[in-house]
Amino acid sequence: GETSDSFSIEESLKELAQLADTAGLMVVGSTYQKLASPNPRTYIGSGKVAEIKSAIRAFEVETVIFDDELSPGQLRNLEKAFGGDVRVCDRTALILDIFNQRAATHEAALQVALAQMEYQLPRLTKMWTHLERQAGGKVKGMGEKQIEVDKRILRTQIGVLKKELESVRKHRKQYRNRRFSVPVPVVSLVGYTNAGKSTLLNQLTGANVLSEDRLFATLDPTTRRVQMKNGSEFLLTDTVGFIQKLPTTLVAAFRATLEEISESSLLVHVVDISHPLAEQQIDAVEKVLAELDVSEIPKLMVWNKVDKVTDPEKIKLEAERREDIVCISALTGEGLLEFCNAVQEKLKDSMVPVEAFVP
Ligand code: GDP
Repeated sequence: GETSDSFSIEESLKELAQLADTAGLMVVGSTYQKLASPNPRTYIGSGKVAEIKSAIRAFEVETVIFDDELSPGQLRNLEKAFGGDVRVCDRTALILDIFNQRAATHEAALQVALAQMEYQLPRLTKMWTHLERQAGGKVKGMGEKQIEVDKRILRTQIGVLKKELESVRKHRKQYRNRRFSVPVPVVSLVGYTNAGKSTLLNQLTGANVLSEDRLFATLDPTTRRVQMKNGSEFLLTDTVGFIQKLPTTLVAAFRATLEEISESSLLVHVVDISHPLAEQQIDAVEKVLAELDVSEIPKLMVWNKVDKVTDPEKIKLEAERREDIVCISALTGEGLLEFCNAVQEKLKDSMVPVEAFVP
């Protein structure tokens, strides 16, 4: 892999391993190589190919995952080199697998299907050249024709999906507006994957949101009503977590999730403060938020997992020194009341935009 921004190769591979785990795979090892530029045929060099080949034999490996996107040709050559039934895939395909497993609503399923088709489009070649080989070259040329037909079919399907997605989105908006005809402020949880967003949502509302040590535990926007003892309430929405290297094609697929953020009264940025790269993760999330046109929306930062840090007092002092930070442990419940109070204060400061509630 290549280093992207301030994330090291090791960190990127660690996230890739987490993603593989989320997809239900067991990771037996990882390796990387520093090349001036990727090998056009196999992405990695021939020595590395041989090294991985022997690891495949030693550990009976079924899948080899690359952290960067592979070209259709590289994919094919690597599969040939590794031989047998070894599946070769890249980060994008892995994330698509996870999205596919986790797509819980019609809209999410459509988004994933669309992203998968767009991913497949340039990769259609493989299946047909494979068939040509099997037929001993007798059908040469036929494969190429078939690829064109397939591409056309796929493009048509993509068009149909896009239209359907558009109408589902419109419908959701209407539904949302109806739901908000009684003005209740919407608070959106944003943050890096695994920061603890769904755990926080669970703790606060008893909502039945999947929470486990996995990436993308929450794919669909999930909204719950939080009622305070003083009678005031707000809607808390969980959003899909950011990841360090989300391929651009997948960002587009999650536009509906991101769009939802722009309609909230408050953004709560949940941070896993026990993570060694917490600062970098904060930067990564804020960078994406800056691109989302949500600068007008007030923000509150939550430093989660204070139960896990070595020196909680130091962290708490640091949080006090800065502004708008609440320290919590979504797991133990520490700081949750302070969190709710801080949300209330923030909502008081910010007038809830009336347009958002017009039925
Ligand atoms: P999400 O991806 O942001 O929704 O993160 P999750 O809520 O799924 O949490 C990811 C992992 O972190 C899970 O294993 C949680 O149990 C764990 N976790 C969440 N909050 C805390 C916390 O305050 N302390 C500790 N120690 N672990 C936590």
